[in-house]
Amino acid sequence: MSTAKTGKCVIFSAPSGAGKTTIVHHLLGQNLDLEFSISACSREPRPNEINGKDYHFLGVDGFQKAINENAFIEWEEVYTANYYGTLKAEIERIWEKEKIVIFDVDVIGGLNLKRIFGANALAIFVQPPSYDELEKRLRHRSTETEDKIQQRMSKAKTELTHADEFDFVLVNDDLEKACLKAKELILDFKQK
Ligand code: ADP
Ligand code: 5GP
Repeated sequence: MSTAKTGKCVIFSAPSGAGKTTIVHHLLGQNLDLEFSISACSREPRPNEINGKDYHFLGVDGFQKAINENAFIEWEEVYTANYYGTLKAEIERIWEKEKIVIFDVDVIGGLNLKRIFGANALAIFVQPPSYDELEKRLRHRSTETEDKIQQRMSKAKTELTHADEFDFVLVNDDLEKACLKAKELILDFKQK
């Protein structure tokens, strides 16, 4: 990256449906000097999602163009033909404002970012209380087709085996407790 300014980042990873987006949204309202890194992706927006706020929805061609332009610090085909990536420009933009970058990325992406940023990163794995509860949450969210639910649940099995490679495993059973713990971890990390 060409940035002169560097800073800290907090990484949230988890299998889809574990609750990381919910926790990240909560933390963004807590005056912790965090700013969300808006990823790029190739999928269509969900009804409640806004382009440039939740994601940069580039479509497959736009995503490919961004890869060719070397715009990503990391990117993954997270699900078959569904691409997601972290834009270098997002990190630069946030550090320029002297804020802490907060990432919501898949498990492999999270581990890649942790490797890149080393001690400047706090990597948190959000763990669902059980595999069955994960499926319940994914279904309850009502955003995926049956086929996509199956894909996400199958990927979750592998993702759960990576939990101990993160700095902290945050069990998201009681949402309020998980949010409080996440806030405490970030406050500690800010002091370092
Ligand atoms: P992710 O970003 O990890 O895919 P979401 O934040 O979208 O997951 O959460 C998946 C679903 O589970 C959402 O409908 C959310 O409201 C719900 N949820 C999140 N945390 C909890 C919790 N602790 N208990 C019950 N439901 C939860
Ligand atoms: P969703 O389609 O549910 O929004 O996201 C699917 C998965 O892609 C989630 O695990 C989410 O964290 C992940 N994801 C979102 N942005 C990025 C990114 O920039 N890089 C990577 N590697 N994964 C991402």
